Amino acid sequence: MPAIEVYIGLGSNLANPLRQLAQAVAKLASLPDTSLVAQSPFYRSRPIGPQDQPDFINGAVKLHTSLEPLILLGHLQRIENAHGRRRNQHWGPRTLDLDLLLYGDHPVQNERLIVPHPELTNRDFVLQPLLDLSPGLILPDGRALQVLRHQCPDNGLKRLEPEHRDSPP
Ligand code: ATP
Ligand code: CA
Ligand code: CA
Repeated sequence: MPAIEVYIGLGSNLANPLRQLAQAVAKLASLPDTSLVAQSPFYRSRPIGPQDQPDFINGAVKLHTSLEPLILLGHLQRIENAHGRRRNQHWGPRTLDLDLLLYGDHPVQNERLIVPHPELTNRDFVLQPLLDLSPGLILPDGRALQVLRHQCPDNGLKRLEPEHRDSPP
């Protein structure tokens, strides 16, 4: 099966978020039948939903993979669990969140997985890292990410400089 270009969104606001994200990127890079193409800068953003929680660190990666969408989702959830992810509160604090944002040009819709990720167009902390990776990106329905980014609500996104991104040894 030929490799598909996929984008994964990463988020964390607990237990050293920068390290959570750096370790998650390494794990994504070592998935079977998958290679890491590029990693976006990381950003700090205000939480969506409950406000009594720390700011988030967000980023995205571009992968080439021949894994089927649900198999890939299974790997994402396994990595989240390995990072101590607990599902308590909707949009609550979490050690690691990995969302399958785009799977080539293929829409997916079933009870476990919706791609493109349904909230992608409303979130600057998702759109901006995607644009950093692929400035000309177009959604399967033909909408340009650059246009969506301009229409998106402001979530107080702050780009982190590379020296703040290095994870401790
Ligand atoms: P949001 O989806 O609004 O970003 P969330 O990331 O907090 O919220 P989770 O609790 O991580 O939501 O996931 C809930 C369920 O969403 C998962 O069990 C998964 O089956 C489903 N899901 C549907 N589409 C996707 C997708 N594109 N990527 C990841 N999970 C998805
Ligand atoms: Ca999410
Ligand atoms: Ca999620």
